[in-house]
Amino acid sequence: MVRSQQNLERMASRAGLTSALAAADLRTIIDTIPVLAWTTGPDGAADFFNSCWVTYSGLSSEESVALGWAQVLHPDDRERALSQWQSAVARGEPIEVELRLRRADGEFLWFLARAHPLRDAAGRILKWYGTSTEIDARRKREHLALENAETYSQILDRSPAMLFTTTAQGELEFVNAPLLRYFGTGLEALQQWKQAAHLHPDDLPKTIALWSQAVTEGVPCVIEHRMRRHDGVYRWFQFEAVPHRDADGRLVRWYGSITDLDDSKRKDAELRAMEARLSSASRMAAVSQLSAAIAHEVNQPIAAVIANSDACKRWLSMDPPNIERALYSLERIGRDAAAGADIVQRIRLLFQRAPLMKEPLSLNIVTNEVLQMLDGEMRQGGVVARRELDPAVPAVQADRVQIQQVLINLMRNAIEAMIGLEDRPRVLSVTSKRDGDEAVVAVTDSGPGLSDPQIIFQPFFTTKRNGMGMGLAISKTIVEAHGGRLWATSDGGAGATFVLSIRA
Ligand code: ADP
Repeated sequence: MVRSQQNLERMASRAGLTSALAAADLRTIIDTIPVLAWTTGPDGAADFFNSCWVTYSGLSSEESVALGWAQVLHPDDRERALSQWQSAVARGEPIEVELRLRRADGEFLWFLARAHPLRDAAGRILKWYGTSTEIDARRKREHLALENAETYSQILDRSPAMLFTTTAQGELEFVNAPLLRYFGTGLEALQQWKQAAHLHPDDLPKTIALWSQAVTEGVPCVIEHRMRRHDGVYRWFQFEAVPHRDADGRLVRWYGSITDLDDSKRKDAELRAMEARLSSASRMAAVSQLSAAIAHEVNQPIAAVIANSDACKRWLSMDPPNIERALYSLERIGRDAAAGADIVQRIRLLFQRAPLMKEPLSLNIVTNEVLQMLDGEMRQGGVVARRELDPAVPAVQADRVQIQQVLINLMRNAIEAMIGLEDRPRVLSVTSKRDGDEAVVAVTDSGPGLSDPQIIFQPFFTTKRNGMGMGLAISKTIVEAHGGRLWATSDGGAGATFVLSIRA
């Protein structure tokens, strides 16, 4: 205490304060300032500590003098701090060191310790004056920031995605480890990307143009291009960058990712090639089936026309010519030619998506018309028709010709399904009824039934030698174009039922 009192007086006298009162004021100041203050002799041995120190460390001035203070140094900082202090004293240079000091309650806080030497006129060091300022919060913040930075860089480098940032002008600034690994180069080489061969030469001009435009306009940018891997292999990537702006809306940086598209692109291409092969194969199959069906249908009347024209020629070249017979042949030629034209017309109609000519239509009337049209065919096939048409069936808005076509298809199929049926009567039963606000017509036969009531509606599905497999597909399309439904049911082996339902 005596020594420190002398010290204070010396300090006071240097400051021109000679009176004991001034010294006491100074003492108050030194003890009140919120820093740990201390002095040492020229050899570095501490000889004064302010009361802040005493309060903080829990050590008395006596316990702290010389090297006593060092007992509150954190063990991990001890060696470093002491050696720095010794070398500062040896060189006579100011020192600044960050260290942890133990508080009276045992907790260590970080301090910034500073000491300056005081020299006499001859330059000899008389004393050292030091302060220790608490910087615990700052140190911990910095440490946390450092840890965060390390964590973030690990996240970036360990993520499987290729990530980068560029300056506002689009110059590469940061790339993560996966990106560097892909190219097998450093950031500097990548910064020359416009010259270097990292991009496929065919994609380079497009990439430069799109990227420059995005940078100029400051809008997000997506580019697909090929990039050369370290082993020379080019793969497809999606390059994506979004601009980042500061609070004032100034573009400050671009954040970007590069995603490997190669596998999905390859799969897409394979899929497309397969689809193309498939659709061209199924088109070819369809066309050949179709042409066979058309040829079959049309060949019959043409063959008849040829036969009859031969006959006609024969009747006319007789002596005397048999005009009556010749006329008969000509008549048949006319009839068969008309039949041929009719077939062609029917086929055209089949594929024509004529606009619907809707009119109020009674399904009962249309059913009766169709049954009448098919009368000959039924008689020929030994088929008996039974009809149960409910007069309460509501009228529907429908295209007469198209609904006729549907019913003809259904009934013809039914008749054909019963050809050769010997063990039971060949019965075509047609019923109609009202079901809520729907008009329903059902066509039932006693044929072999259906093995799959769904597949028969697929285009070109046929089990008939000369079938086209289009009838049901087209019928369904027609009914659906009327907002209705067409479906089949079958008990299997006990005939099939086709139901047509249209909302009134
Ligand atoms: P196509 O009559 O040219 O074969 P459809 O589309 O009209 O074409 O019929 C497809 C297939 O559905 C027929 O080949 C037949 O196998 C089956 N089918 C249709 N109607 C019946 C039915 N009433 N009974 C049994 N099978 C049928």
